[in-house]
Amino acid sequence: MKRYIDLHIHSTNSDGSWTPAEIVKRAVKYELAAIAITDHDTVSGIPEALESIQNTGIDFVPGIEISTKWCHGRMHILGYFIDHNSSYLAELSKKMKQAREERITRTCDKLAAIGKPVSPELVFEMAKNSSSIGRPHIANAMVKMGYVPTLQRAFDLYLSYGKPGYVPRWSPEPKEAIDIIHGAGGIAVVAHCGVTEGCMEQLDKVIALGIDGVEVYYPSHKPHQIEKLIAIAKEHNLAITGGSDCHGMTRGEPLLGIYKVPYKIYENLVKFYKNKKVNTM
Ligand code: AMP
Ligand code: ZN
Ligand code: FE
Ligand code: FE
Repeated sequence: MKRYIDLHIHSTNSDGSWTPAEIVKRAVKYELAAIAITDHDTVSGIPEALESIQNTGIDFVPGIEISTKWCHGRMHILGYFIDHNSSYLAELSKKMKQAREERITRTCDKLAAIGKPVSPELVFEMAKNSSSIGRPHIANAMVKMGYVPTLQRAFDLYLSYGKPGYVPRWSPEPKEAIDIIHGAGGIAVVAHCGVTEGCMEQLDKVIALGIDGVEVYYPSHKPHQIEKLIAIAKEHNLAITGGSDCHGMTRGEPLLGIYKVPYKIYENLVKFYKNKKVNTM
């Protein structure tokens, strides 16, 4: 019987610690019925995932998680059923790659100025299989240098918004992210609204911009947030999604296969997508 799914997973192609093939292996082990790989601002892991998921009986949804400008860059928009060869996505990834790489050197400068030098080369080494270098790789470099015991501590002390090593970077507006996902034939979903400061308050605006769905089932969403998001989804005819946001081993116990989202959510999402395609695409 098809039971559980996971529609929010990161691989080594962004800041996760498992390759797409390793993610598929784990999904097989935990008997998941459908998964989506949603790397930050890149679809470079999709071909490997498509290849390794063949003959497993697991449904695969090509995905992405796009960081946007809102909420200090923490409003993330997930794209599902995207064409990973889309030129819209290629253009976004190119711009993002440049913005991300520039930010690494600026962050390293800032860290040096506060007496915690980290060489950009070490950060690039930590991100050697990634197409989406980011703060988690800087955090890992800081652990390696012995400045902090864990990635989380590096964020809490240095890299989070407002901390001394924080550097902003370019991201698209939510509308641009939604348009890119639609341009690539996908549906756009606001990620983890319950844990992104300020996101709940912006939800009406994002709905007005043409978002298709909300991520309801998420490990750190509280029951009242889940209820609220379901009510909002019903009121505005939005799709409902869910996933673990698993990053492999980088954040303690990996939640892939442990955090359970019912298969019904995936079935309804497929229906939503097919309907939308018939009506608008
Ligand atoms: P970046 O895209 O470089 O800004 O890094 C953002 C990523 O870092 C997020 O997607 C998370 O994976 C991780 N992250 C952001 N804030 C925190 C935090 N406070 N603690 C731990 N990880 C975080
Ligand atoms: Zn991440
Ligand atoms: Fe996110
Ligand atoms: Fe994520």
